[in-house]
Order: sequence, then structure tokens, then C-alpha cells
Amino acid sequence: MKTTNKLLLLSGVFGTLLSCQSGDKTVGANEQKQAPNILFIMSDDHAYQAISAYQDHLMKTPNIDRIANEGMLFSNACVTNSICAPSRAVILTGKHSHINGKIDNKFPFDTTNVTFPQILHENGYQTAMFGKLHFGNSPKGFDQFKILPGQGNYYNPDFITKNDGNIRVEGYTTDVITDMTLDWLKEEREDDKPFLLMYLHKAPHREWLPAERHFREYTKKTFPEPAMLFDDYEGRGSAAREAEMNLLTHMNWAGDSKIRPDVMNELGIKPTIVWDTTAYNGYMRRMTPEQRKAWNDVYDPINEEFKNNYANMSKKDLMSWRYQRYMQDYLGSIAAVDEGVGAVLDYLEESGLAENTIVVYTSDQGFYLGEHGWFDKRFIYDESFKTPLLVRWPGVVEEGIVCNEMVQNLDFAQTFLDAAGIDAPADMQGESLVSLLKGEKDKWDRDAVYYHYYEYPSVHMVKRHYGIVTTEYKLAHFYYDVDEWELYDREKDPMELKNVYDDPAYAELVAELHQKLDEMRVKYKDSEELDQKFIDMYDL
Ligand code: CA
Repeated sequence: MKTTNKLLLLSGVFGTLLSCQSGDKTVGANEQKQAPNILFIMSDDHAYQAISAYQDHLMKTPNIDRIANEGMLFSNACVTNSICAPSRAVILTGKHSHINGKIDNKFPFDTTNVTFPQILHENGYQTAMFGKLHFGNSPKGFDQFKILPGQGNYYNPDFITKNDGNIRVEGYTTDVITDMTLDWLKEEREDDKPFLLMYLHKAPHREWLPAERHFREYTKKTFPEPAMLFDDYEGRGSAAREAEMNLLTHMNWAGDSKIRPDVMNELGIKPTIVWDTTAYNGYMRRMTPEQRKAWNDVYDPINEEFKNNYANMSKKDLMSWRYQRYMQDYLGSIAAVDEGVGAVLDYLEESGLAENTIVVYTSDQGFYLGEHGWFDKRFIYDESFKTPLLVRWPGVVEEGIVCNEMVQNLDFAQTFLDAAGIDAPADMQGESLVSLLKGEKDKWDRDAVYYHYYEYPSVHMVKRHYGIVTTEYKLAHFYYDVDEWELYDREKDPMELKNVYDDPAYAELVAELHQKLDEMRVKYKDSEELDQKFIDMYDL
């Protein structure tokens, strides 16, 4: 490993940074300052549309917003491959999926990869991870971890733990993960070491089961419908038309919309997919009698009302109904995440840790909240390609700043190593965001990012594609069972409704972007040979 070990008590970089502070917080150049703690908070499938620091038409997230108000909001943060486990692998390794090997949710993570937590640990950081990893194996480089097996459960979740074997904890998963995080900070954290704490929520991943206090509230709410809820997918290629992530036709009736299997039977509604009712029965069985009673108190009347109205509902009515049902549970499950974030931020402040702790809030990717009629992610199109990113770093990041630069989840590893004063391995592929965090925009010269999605044929049937995205344009190649190119003019067509790839007015630009994409494939060491290798993996 090509890392340079440095003393954790850094007088150089941090002395300089901190000497910029005003008032009695000023630390002299000779005073030693411990490397910063890192609190990395990530939720699963949390759309930026559902964070009020970005957009407040759906819900308020006052605690998550605190990070933006006291730090930096990235308006153009994005992922390299919009799906859960691959995104986590990119974050930990600082390498694209085709290099770290975790291209999809199916194959386990290759633990011979070097991750930034391992490097921080080797350099004296105390490291802990709580919540969802979804790698098919345990994380390396952690002093403590308690992780959900696979996708994990919302109620009474099981955990794989570093020291206590496999355990089951009664309670609601978001609250349980928050409690584990707080307990570690209060009881296990060592004062003489900086820490990396990864606080990783399962919520708001499918099947969107809120806590009782939130489903009681959110099932009474009505939310504004997004533009293009009734999209007909004209103007784009076959990938958008053939994807199976439409709220009306592909969302599970029992598992997702919480229509009981007996009600489906009575109404003659067939399961959307084989695991539609299995998913429902599985999570209901996990609840304690008290939890199930509380759930049924609220969801039985919803079922009754649906049963009474179903015969008279048009397709449009059904789509609108399914959208509301979806938002009630999806946003309801975010409410507990926001409360948990608030509790952890409060503790950082009470304990005096906040001052020297970098707090990051992000998601493993974006998510569709009915835009284009969709739920889920995977596409290079904006709602899934972009991801929320908020960073608070007292004394370094100015408060309430918005950064519009194109940054990626690929950049986290080098950012954290840089912040800790550790040289990153030369084969990491991102860029440290520290200069942007310090407001030194002139040191940042990225004008495009690379994207590559692989998991096809598979659930949701989003075709394999790769592409390049600049602030103005998006060029994507859908391949494997098609050979289609799409170009979107992001400024003229922000909703990405019209593929202008064959429009003669864009011919010159298409040629330029093709060249740039080719250069990017070379730069990141992606190739047709690798595309084929990952196709062959599916044929094994
Ligand atoms: Ca995810």
C-alpha cells in the first residue's frame, strides 16, 4: 500500500487552517491539533428531492438541513453507478466499479481491495461502522462494527457484529442504528485518537416501513404529484420504455403499497412479481404482536377504503393513489433518519466533539419519487444519478455555502485521507474535495464525470449503459441487447425528455463528447474488454 504514515498530531495543515479562525478559538502555529474526526452519515436511496435543504415541497428535514446550514451543500453531487452495494464499494475504495469489481448487488465485494477506513485505521484512527453495508462480507479495518445482513429488516433487525456474533435487537431499525452509534460515541470512543464513524441507515430503502410514530402521521398526508408522473417515455430510447420501475405497473401491491394479500385476492389483483406477497408476509412476521397491532390499526382502514373504491378507480386514479401510498411510507421512513441525525449532532455538540469533526450526510444514490412514473434508481438520468451531499467542517467550511461543482461518490476516499493528512494510494480514481470545502475553487478543474451501470438483465430491467456528464450535456450508450446512444441538453431540457443525439444541430457537439468519453474510458481504465468480461460473469 502506497500510503505515507504521518503523525496524527498535525501542526502543519491544521495549524494553518485553524490559525484562520477568529476570536479565542485561534490555535497558534505551534499548537498541535488532532486530525479531524469523521462522521460519515449515509442513508439508502434517500432522494435529494426529500431533503428540505434541497427541496421542501415534500417534507421538512430540519436536522439534516443543519449540516447544510452550518456547512456546504453540493448541488451537483452524483454517483458513478446508481445502485446500493456498488456505490458503497466505490465510496470505500475510491475506485470505479469496473476496477473494484463490485459492479452490481449480486456478486460479493472483493475484500482484497484496499479501503480508506483500512488506511485511516493503520494511521491511528479509531474506526466503527453501524448499519447497512450490503457487501456479502464484513468490513475490514474496523475496531467495531454492527451491520445488517444483506438488505436488513426495518423491525427487530438482526446484526452481524464484530465482537458478539449475530444478534437480534428489538425495535425499529433506524432508532436501533442511531442508538448503536450514540452508545459507541459515549462508551467506546477513545479520547486520544481521532475517529471514523460510519452511521449507515437502511432507511428509506424499499419496502419503506416507517416507525409507528411516523406512519400514524404520514399516512394522513397528501403530497404534490411530480411533473411527468404520467410519462409515456416518448422521445427517449428503448431503455426508458422497457425499464420495470413504474409505480402503476411494477410496484408491489402487498410488499410496497401495503395492500394485504387477502384484499388482493378478494379484488382479483395478481402479485406484481413472485416476491410481492412474500415480502409483505416476511416483514409482518418479524413484528412483535404489539408492533403488528399498531401497524394494522393504521393500515387496515387504508385497505378497507381501497377495497371499497377499487372497482371505480381509473388507471390514472390508481397511479395517483399508488404515488400517495408510496410517498407516505417513503417519506415517513425518512422522518426517523432525520431525528436520528439530530440526536447524533446534538451529542457531538454537547460533548464538544463537533468542533473537530467533519460531518457528511449523503445517500448511496438518488431515487425516483414518481418522476417519469418511476420508483427505484439505476439510470444515468438525473434523479438517480445525483445524490445528496452535505458537509459540515467547523473552521474549514464556511457556513451555508452551496457548491455547484460536479463531485462524485468516487471522491470520498481521497477527501477523507486528505483531511487526515494521509497520502492516498496512487491508484485511487477520485479527487479530494478538500480544496472545494476550503472554498478554493480555482484548484478544481473537473468538467465532466464518468458513469457506468451493469446490473442487467435483472430486477427492474434497466439496460447496461455508460456515459459522460458535463454541466451542460449528458451522453449515454446503452449496450448489451441494444446499441443506442442518447444525448440530453441539460440546460434546455432539464427533465431529460428529448434525446437529441440524432439532431443535426448537435452533430458537432456529439463528436466532441464522443472524443471526451473515449478519453475518459482510457483515463479510468474502462474498456470494451471489461464490458464483455462483466457480461460473461452473468452467463456463468
Ligand atoms: Ca441504495
